[in-house]
Amino acid sequence: MRKEVSSLREPIRVLVVDDELAVRESYALIFNESNRHENENIKGMRSRLFGEQAMTSTQVIGEKSNEYFIVKFCSGAEAAVKACQLAFEKNERFNVMFIDMRMPPGPDGLWAAEKIRAIDGDIEIVFCTAFSDVDVETISRRVPPADKLFYLQKPFSSHAVRALAIALGHKWSAHRRIAKLAYFDALTGLPNRNLFNDQLAMVIDRAIVQNSKFAVLYFDLDNFKRVNDTLGHAVGDELLCTLSERILDLLAKDGLAKQKPILAESKVIFGRMSGDEFVVLLNDISSVEEVRLLASRLVSAMQQPVMLSLHHVMTTTSVGVAVYPTNGESAEQLFRNADLAMYCAKRQGPGRIAFFEDAMNEDGLRRLTLEAGLREALANNELQLYYQPQFNINDSTIEGFEALLRWNSADYGSISPAEFIPLAEETGLILQLGKWVLRTACEQMKRWCDQGLCTGRIAVNVSALQLAQADFLETVISTLRDTGLSAHFLEIEVTETILMSDEARSIAVCARLRDIGVSVAIDDFGTGYSSLSRLRNFAVDRIKIDRSFLQDMHNNNEDRILCNAIIRMGQTLGLKVVAEGVENFSQLLLLQEEKCELAQGYLFAKPLTVFDAEQLLQKDVEARDLTRTRRMAVLIAKPQAL
Ligand code: C2E
Ligand code: CA
Ligand code: CA
Repeated sequence: MRKEVSSLREPIRVLVVDDELAVRESYALIFNESNRHENENIKGMRSRLFGEQAMTSTQVIGEKSNEYFIVKFCSGAEAAVKACQLAFEKNERFNVMFIDMRMPPGPDGLWAAEKIRAIDGDIEIVFCTAFSDVDVETISRRVPPADKLFYLQKPFSSHAVRALAIALGHKWSAHRRIAKLAYFDALTGLPNRNLFNDQLAMVIDRAIVQNSKFAVLYFDLDNFKRVNDTLGHAVGDELLCTLSERILDLLAKDGLAKQKPILAESKVIFGRMSGDEFVVLLNDISSVEEVRLLASRLVSAMQQPVMLSLHHVMTTTSVGVAVYPTNGESAEQLFRNADLAMYCAKRQGPGRIAFFEDAMNEDGLRRLTLEAGLREALANNELQLYYQPQFNINDSTIEGFEALLRWNSADYGSISPAEFIPLAEETGLILQLGKWVLRTACEQMKRWCDQGLCTGRIAVNVSALQLAQADFLETVISTLRDTGLSAHFLEIEVTETILMSDEARSIAVCARLRDIGVSVAIDDFGTGYSSLSRLRNFAVDRIKIDRSFLQDMHNNNEDRILCNAIIRMGQTLGLKVVAEGVENFSQLLLLQEEKCELAQGYLFAKPLTVFDAEQLLQKDVEARDLTRTRRMAVLIAKPQAL
């Protein structure tokens, strides 16, 4: 059909289905012409066919119309179904169909409409009939939705046909535009999360019926944030577009997807979930290998350098895979598990693929939520330091405190450091937390000194990552300077394993700390199986016997011998020895017998709040003149906190 030059609009695609040639010809006239110069013959024919008064073309379409139509004519129901199918496949879908109700001897209009509706849910259908016996209810039930069904009674007026075609064509386009905004990502043109979810629901329904399997592959760029931050959002956007094109090309090359958008029935659906997260759904899979192959082809395609207009960028992508139904039966489960697997892939390094395993579930979910919470914890004031005293068991005085971190989360309750410290270490958050701990502990100790309550040292735990920082010593020095605490009040606790993992560096750091007056304690001593003699090389002041050795000390002779050996060796090297985790008097007695000088544990006090620690310090000052045993009694009679 002819395209009107003035038209900027999309053409309205019309399908006309009628078994009578004459009727089809009239439709042709209505749509074909711009109808300005209709000749008299045609007018006559029109008047015969439609039983209407001859009209001038201007009366038909108004002054000027910039609509134009692409019309396909079919003479029977079967041909109409075929035409619709073809148009759908070519993505040249009809907007409106005018269909004759009765087309004997072939199937009728209702039959065709049902089939066509199954192919294309959006087409606007106009039933044309010379009879008034149309059963609207039955039709609506068989060809839903009712708001896409219309009825024209023959003989109809040509302007009614044309006006209806225009109105329905516009309605169709408006719906498409709305759907596009709601369902497609504006940047890449890919299906967005909404559409993907809808499609996923359909795929699940189909998989249930067909007993088939499919996989959800969750992609996340590893360094997108850096690209965005350093090169700007425009470059970030360009990168996302280029990568999504690259995926589309690869899918098309594999014959998995022919056109975009790629939707429910196809072998793959590809969408953008948000930011730098994409999802590929691989339908009807026969093996996990098939999925792995596609995932690795996509990962390697993504890591080829990307030439953007001004920059060359290298990116890698991590992929998490969840397979239906093994890894989830609902869209939500599948997404969550693919996302978790992706998170695990990321932790293995850039450009990895991980398939979901059940073990990831609870563990991973909790980790994910805790990690997110921990990032906010400092800002939300959810972190606190508690202080656990160390006692000199020879003269019953307080020798110092160990600062222990507590996280009381508004969302997850109180979380043990045994759980969140390793998480903070893995995510690198420990650097930020560690600085806060050091500063807060030093400030507190300075306050106690200023109040005349200062006794011994404040011990601060330091993790491997902190110690490995080039500026670790600077941080210690500047914290002491900023808080005004003298260096000899501070002790750094490092575990044996950390110290021995990079021995040369540890030796140097310990020596520097001693130079500036800060002491060092080796934490959890005895668990790292390092040779005791190597300790000689370290400028450490104290070793803390791990509490596992004390637990069974009174029953287990080996533990007792080991404790004894550590104490002796410490004394020989001129180190102070602290026994950790002293919970009862029999342990205390044994330690006294072994001539261990220092002890820390629930028997004396649990880690205390600032308030309780202060009360204890006060008592310590007041009890100075009492005898050793009396002092012990006073100090051990709690206040106690967690
Ligand atoms: P740790 O450094 O070995 O700290 C001693 C742990 O033993 C503390 O656990 C303390 O509450 C507990 N404890 C003390 N006396 C007893 C006792 O008599 N019986 C028993 N069963 N336990 C006792 P907490 O506070 O849960 O801390 C656990 C670990 O978390 C610490 O072990 C330390 O490795 C880490 N941590 C705590 N705070 C920090 C921190 O600020 N920075 C770093 N890097 N790690 C920290
Ligand atoms: Ca410690
Ligand atoms: Ca310890």
